Amino acid sequence: MSLTEHTLCEHRDHLDGKRYSAVELANAYLERIAQTDEAIGSYLHVCREIIKQQWLIALRQARAADDRLARGERTALLGIPIGLKDIFLTAGIPTTCASRILEGYVPPYTATSAQKLLDAGAVLLGKLNMDEFAMGSSTETSHFKITRNPWDLERIPGGSSGGSASSVAARQCVASLGTDPGGSIRQPAALCGVVGLKPTYGRVSRYGVIAFASSLDQVGPFARTVGDCALMLSAIAGYDSHDSTSSPLSVPDYSDTLGKSVAGLRLGIPAEYFGAGIDSEVKAAVEAVIRYYEGLGVICKPVNLPHTEYALATYYIIAPAEASSNLARYDGIRFGFRDAEAKSLREVYDRSRSRGFGPEVTRRIMLGTYVLSAGYYEAYYRKAQKVRTLIKQDFDAAFAEVDAIITPVAPTPAFKIGEKTSDPVQMYLSDVFTIPVNMAGLPGLSVPCGFTTSNLPLAFQLIGKPFDEATLLQLGHAYQQGTDWHRRVPAVA
Ligand code: GLN
Repeated sequence: MSLTEHTLCEHRDHLDGKRYSAVELANAYLERIAQTDEAIGSYLHVCREIIKQQWLIALRQARAADDRLARGERTALLGIPIGLKDIFLTAGIPTTCASRILEGYVPPYTATSAQKLLDAGAVLLGKLNMDEFAMGSSTETSHFKITRNPWDLERIPGGSSGGSASSVAARQCVASLGTDPGGSIRQPAALCGVVGLKPTYGRVSRYGVIAFASSLDQVGPFARTVGDCALMLSAIAGYDSHDSTSSPLSVPDYSDTLGKSVAGLRLGIPAEYFGAGIDSEVKAAVEAVIRYYEGLGVICKPVNLPHTEYALATYYIIAPAEASSNLARYDGIRFGFRDAEAKSLREVYDRSRSRGFGPEVTRRIMLGTYVLSAGYYEAYYRKAQKVRTLIKQDFDAAFAEVDAIITPVAPTPAFKIGEKTSDPVQMYLSDVFTIPVNMAGLPGLSVPCGFTTSNLPLAFQLIGKPFDEATLLQLGHAYQQGTDWHRRVPAVA
């Protein structure tokens, strides 16, 4: 068995038991990236010098991890090779958010969540491809390249954290971080057959994460198992004085509840998530998971989330509104790309922005500016905020009756590259089951639960009460204990 086949927990045992060193492990993953990434395209910044620089950084970090291991240090992430979505600022390493407007930008500091992983001894292998500014569901809006699904290279990996999902699925890193304002962790995790967790809004610091929609953005882990995600979450969660929206609530050890019996837990099934538009194989797979949980003594019962049908429309008012103001900072003056032919200040702004942003980002800025403009603010933005409250109240009422809710993650398995690029609304519909969770600020976990007849991954979503990631992880782990979907290896890997 190749080194890269192991999960985070297995690597932990092996590193602690000195079966191999952190340097050997980092080299194994770097080798695998070299072998497979031309076909998949998980990693960004492919110019040779930068790759060299990153590799040197990775090996330096791995050597430091070996020193700490030799001194007897035993912590969860010491020596573990990881990848980061290119939305996380990393000091000294280019960070583009997959946008031309940030081409060549090298940040002066590192995002809190990424820094926590590095302080814990994780080894950074590189920065991962994504949709431009996290706007998309297929990683096709990246300015630099597309990423392919390791299970079928003709298909998309999902998005916006497509590279974070494909790299874990293809064994190009042990675990990764992504962000999820509307499904961007859970949907690509589902489409690539790995586990993805969007924590409660406020659970993980957003400091140093390039802002898209500030009231929705949240950082979370990808890994092959729920147990591995629990270790990653324990490392990144917690209050940060640099992010006023981060929660002061103490961080539990998320591995503690793993393995506890799930018998007697109550799981809600919302009919709104199992109706028209959902692929029959997706639906059948999630229904099989419900039966599996019933077999474990979980009490499954219907709940209502009647405002779900408005979530997508509401999101496409609130998220673009926030994006249009967050993206105002890219003016051609301070960061990245500046149009060389501009002759006046006005032209610097106009030409840099119109050439620096891709079509989807431009569409969002225009939508957002429109819904915030005088005369439309009340009709669109304020109304959307009210609907958001109704969506949240639906969940509050449901959680008075159940401990968690189960739904599909995406309505279909991974679609073909190019299939939805000309129809934004079809693309937006990929997130119909994940967006309501963001509107309510709740945690959501995506867990693999099988394959279609054409061997594409299927997944289910568990939605939890605010700050109750532990119950989701407990339920997800119980499912993985009895199934082995997460052990399957895509052909390209
Ligand atoms: N697909 C949605 C969007 O494009 C959500 C993506 C995300 O969560 N960033 O906004």
